[in-house]
Amino acid sequence: MSILRLAIPTPLRQLFDYLPPAGINIEALQAGTRLQVPFGSRQVTGYLVDVVSDTDQDNSRLKTANAVLDAASLLSPGTIALCDWAARYYHHPPGDVFAAAFPPRLRQGKAQLDNGIRGWQLSTRGKGLPADALSRAPKQAAALALLRAQSQASHEALNAAGASTPTLRALREKELIEEVSLQAVHQPPAARPGLTLNEEQAAALSGLQTALGSFSCHLLEGVTGSGKTEVYLQLIARCLADGQQAMVLIPEIGLTPQTLSRFEQRFDARIAVFHSGLTELQRYKAWEAARDGRADIIIGTRSAVFTPLHKLGVIIVDEEHDGSYKQQDGFRYSARDVAVKRAQLEGCPVLLGSATPSLESLHNALQGRYQHPRLSARAGSGTLPTIRTEDVRGEQLQAGLSGGLIDAAKKALGRREQVLLFLNRRGYAASVLCHDCGWLAECSACDARLTVHRRQRQLRCHHCNARRPLPSQCPECRGNRLLTQGLGTEQTEDTLLSLFPGIPIHRVDSDTIQGRDAMASLVDRINAGEPCILLGTQMLTKGHHFPNVSLIGIIDADALLFSADFRGEERMAQLLTQVAGRAGRAETGGQVIMQTHYPDHPAVLAMINTPFADQARAMLTARQASGMPPYGQLLMVRTDCSDQSAGERFLQQLRQASESALPKGCHIVGPLPSAMPRRAGKFRSQLMVMGNTRSTLQQCASALVQRATSLRAAGDLKWSIDIDPQEVM
Ligand code: ADP
Ligand code: ZN
Ligand code: ZN
Repeated sequence: MSILRLAIPTPLRQLFDYLPPAGINIEALQAGTRLQVPFGSRQVTGYLVDVVSDTDQDNSRLKTANAVLDAASLLSPGTIALCDWAARYYHHPPGDVFAAAFPPRLRQGKAQLDNGIRGWQLSTRGKGLPADALSRAPKQAAALALLRAQSQASHEALNAAGASTPTLRALREKELIEEVSLQAVHQPPAARPGLTLNEEQAAALSGLQTALGSFSCHLLEGVTGSGKTEVYLQLIARCLADGQQAMVLIPEIGLTPQTLSRFEQRFDARIAVFHSGLTELQRYKAWEAARDGRADIIIGTRSAVFTPLHKLGVIIVDEEHDGSYKQQDGFRYSARDVAVKRAQLEGCPVLLGSATPSLESLHNALQGRYQHPRLSARAGSGTLPTIRTEDVRGEQLQAGLSGGLIDAAKKALGRREQVLLFLNRRGYAASVLCHDCGWLAECSACDARLTVHRRQRQLRCHHCNARRPLPSQCPECRGNRLLTQGLGTEQTEDTLLSLFPGIPIHRVDSDTIQGRDAMASLVDRINAGEPCILLGTQMLTKGHHFPNVSLIGIIDADALLFSADFRGEERMAQLLTQVAGRAGRAETGGQVIMQTHYPDHPAVLAMINTPFADQARAMLTARQASGMPPYGQLLMVRTDCSDQSAGERFLQQLRQASESALPKGCHIVGPLPSAMPRRAGKFRSQLMVMGNTRSTLQQCASALVQRATSLRAAGDLKWSIDIDPQEVM
């Protein structure tokens, strides 16, 4: 007896067994095929994981699948093994994990599309037509002659040769020609010559090239602008020449048009790009090209890591430290970690690159688990910027700007250079307060203050996106002395406009820049080179090259200090190093001015005196002492619920129910309220579990999931488990 074991998108952490539809050939059925099956009262799309001969369910109660949707597997064996691993490792429902490997169109159960190119050929009738039969329709006669000469031609090629779409349609109506689906001719990919590598780059590349063909993991630790991307490009060239595909993960495509265009310029190859701006159809086509091996290079954000590939040769994870590789809701995977596992399963190298590697990856490299090529200096002519603090204690600031920073900006602009100011808060002000009665504008759904957006005359919650009109008087006491507190980019922009008349000010945050084209055109305008000031949030820090920026001002370094999260210091150092890295990319060199009230704070001093590489090694020592990752392993069980105390009660019960089943080497902390206990109307609680090894933590996770599944959750309580959480507060 054959039983089909399927992954079905439901919140249940299990596979489901079905009987095969009548009359199908079981032998031909492959894992990775979609089936339509009854599930409860619905028909759903499930993914075949295995065909087995036995089930622990009652045979007589097994339902029968309705239909097999695909003639063959849609996934590669590597992707199937990867999804299987990810469902176990992250303790996430397998149906949801498998769904991540498919584009939305296929998840919805729709049929695969013909991937051919639309083309035409003569029909039998057309072939038999006397040559002069269409003398009264010369355009049609000409189109027919074209097809006589080459038997088949693509619609596009015919259009280009003068046979218009209406003409072709007319011929089809006369049944003289018929539509055919043509297969694209495979052009082998080619790479334009790369730069001549410096010694360190050449050593890194040669190590990587030798590694092609089997699994190994490499951390390319190279300062900003040291030519990591050039190493990626030359490695990919080699991989393509070997007839393999390359997968490149980047944190955010929309914000980094330059990265993509460098790939496009270097290669004469088919590049499939995955980003959130694609239509469903584009996404499907990119996915299919990747899977069938018609795409040579796959570039995408986090979710692209599950794309099935025909012949994967290398995976590159650029800016591997970036937080956006971790999905923060639903299926909480880390695309970087999944990439490493995938490379292992598929037998290819994986390259993690960063100027500011995560302590996890650095630890693996220092322990010898990863190879560790390093690039210690800027490539080409650029030099690393110098960093100094500006002590702003007691200073009269103008929208956050000190006299020292303003002077430095004036000088740089006077030399016709560009200035970049970093302020990680959008909007006009962080909050608004009534001077008469103390009323504070707070979000009604979150434990958070509302941010002032003066341009839109709105108060906005940056956590749940709630919006309210900006009041002109206090809603409590009707007083009209409303004070704003805490600086946002809008406010600094206003001040810059009056301080630097005639100088273009480009504000770059998610309110001003929406979509790939907006960022691309801004980058082009900036790199045209005219003096200007760029003012922006994190958005400005991600991998951009601004060759003419010579001065960087960190307006509020203090906002990064005193984080409650154990990764706070690491994140601060990464962020500031990355911002600083935008300066001095060209000959001009560069300087970074960091405004702070705490010039003697150890983290501030470290930024000035210690390169990131050394700071990171010192932070590792501190982590070791605290037993936090990468030395210990973490998981969080989180709840959200509209009842304030239900989450804590649930976690308390879970803790009691599991404690006896936990292996040695595990340690539970909590239940604890989250840093923001209420968000979007839901109260949130959490339980943190530390394990001394990965396998201890995994045993612990299994025990917790098992107990949590059997506990009765009150009301609308939802719980989730987060393995290797990024944010712990
Ligand atoms: P990263 O990815 O480390 O930030 P890039 O690869 O983008 O560095 O290189 C930074 C700059 O240096 C780019 O303008 C690039 O063209 C240039 N560059 C890289 N490698 C070389 C080289 N070997 N010789 C000359 N210029 C180089
Ligand atoms: Zn008031
Ligand atoms: Zn809110």
